[in-house]
Amino acid sequence: MSSTSQLRNVDPEDEAQLLDTIDRWVAKEVKPIAKEYDHADRYPAETVEQMKELGLFGSTISQEYGGLGLPAGTYAKIVMRISRDWMAVTGIFNSHLMLALAIEKFGTADQKKQWLPKLATGEVRGGLALTEPDAGTDLQGIRTVAKRDGEGYVINGSKTWISNSIEGNCVALLVKTDPEVQPRHKGMSMFIAPKKEGVRVGRKLEKLGYKSIDSGELVYEDYRVGKDHLIGGVEGQGFYQATGGLELGRINVAARGVGVAEGALQLATEYSQVRKTFGKPICEHQAIQLKLGEMATRARAARLLTLDAAAAFDRGERCDLEAGMAKYFASEAALENSIESLRIHGGYGYSKEFDIERLYRDAPLMCIGEGTNEMQRMIIAKQWIKRNPVS
Ligand SMILES: Cc1cc2nc3c(=O)[nH]c(=O)nc-3n(C[C@H](O)[C@H](O)[C@H](O)COP(=O)(O)OP(=O)(O)OC[C@H]3O[C@@H](n4cnc5c(N)ncnc54)[C@H](O)[C@@H]3O)c2cc1C
Repeated sequence: MSSTSQLRNVDPEDEAQLLDTIDRWVAKEVKPIAKEYDHADRYPAETVEQMKELGLFGSTISQEYGGLGLPAGTYAKIVMRISRDWMAVTGIFNSHLMLALAIEKFGTADQKKQWLPKLATGEVRGGLALTEPDAGTDLQGIRTVAKRDGEGYVINGSKTWISNSIEGNCVALLVKTDPEVQPRHKGMSMFIAPKKEGVRVGRKLEKLGYKSIDSGELVYEDYRVGKDHLIGGVEGQGFYQATGGLELGRINVAARGVGVAEGALQLATEYSQVRKTFGKPICEHQAIQLKLGEMATRARAARLLTLDAAAAFDRGERCDLEAGMAKYFASEAALENSIESLRIHGGYGYSKEFDIERLYRDAPLMCIGEGTNEMQRMIIAKQWIKRNPVS
């Protein structure tokens, strides 16, 4: 197990102080601008600068490379707190940290030394470029190809839905180095791919929610990189590297789900105490109480599952089952709590003047990213059976 997933601890007082700083920053800088930026689909450039100062771009990067070296548990709590008010902002550093994780976990010593300090400060920013127009869940079906050319490679192909692809300046790029080999995953490799000649941004994608953060297409046309950009220095490891960060990736998506589920609950809790019908606050009507009771239970269960998965990760244990369960449950909790909260708001829930409509539009993403929830349940079942064999 790598240093990125091993026995990380933080002093409880240091953690409390850090979370307090995050809370104050969210209340002062993030929450007040969320609605306006979301509606305008405007990139929050000032927020990104503040996140650099807070060290968020290095949250899970080891301290020896200039990161904060936080355990997954603390990282998850940070993501939960921000997501309660504006989930999309967390995507700007979460996808970036998946790029950093790929390098820290699988990169050569030179790659770690060269890239991680710049990723930790946010000087280099980006994400993971895996998905293509014809291949998302079935990653082994990608068509982007890297061909050997002298000491380096020439890459051709296109990626879509890539977070941070427009505002960022580097991605971990999944390609085929041997498109013919069987099984297909043996022909896949991953490259550190900074923006330079040979790559262009196709277009910015219009989305239902998860606004403000840039999701775009990247088109590679005779894009050249040296062999020193091949992560780990050996071909054929790309599929393993792309999926090797999934445990932390799923804990991160679960934490976003918890944040949205809790945020939706909070909005419903407040609104239901001030909105009156038939002479009393609507929280005193049984139909609303049934919703609030379910929402509160769901949000709490999602939080506990997520922290349980993060604790296993921080102990250095294999936690793909726990992270998968947390991701699945918390993302569904976000979806269900957001629609229930919207209904509790009545007609105002449908208004763009109230925040709940943003949470309702943001929630479905968590059911798609880091493995769709359809796949997630199948993966959970397979692992469950594996861990519980009839002997
Ligand atoms: C806002 C946003 C941001 C994103 N950011 C990134 C990013 O930064 N980097 C990146 O690489 N990608 C990113 N993605 C892409 C995302 O990872 C994919 O959309 C996701 O993996 C699903 O792939 P797909 O869209 O091709 O759906 P498909 O794979 O075509 O799936 C379609 C449907 O079929 C189901 N399905 C597929 N195969 C099976 C099966 N074997 N059994 C049962 N059901 C199945 C799926 O669950 C889904 O319901 C992003 C997507 C969005 C919407």
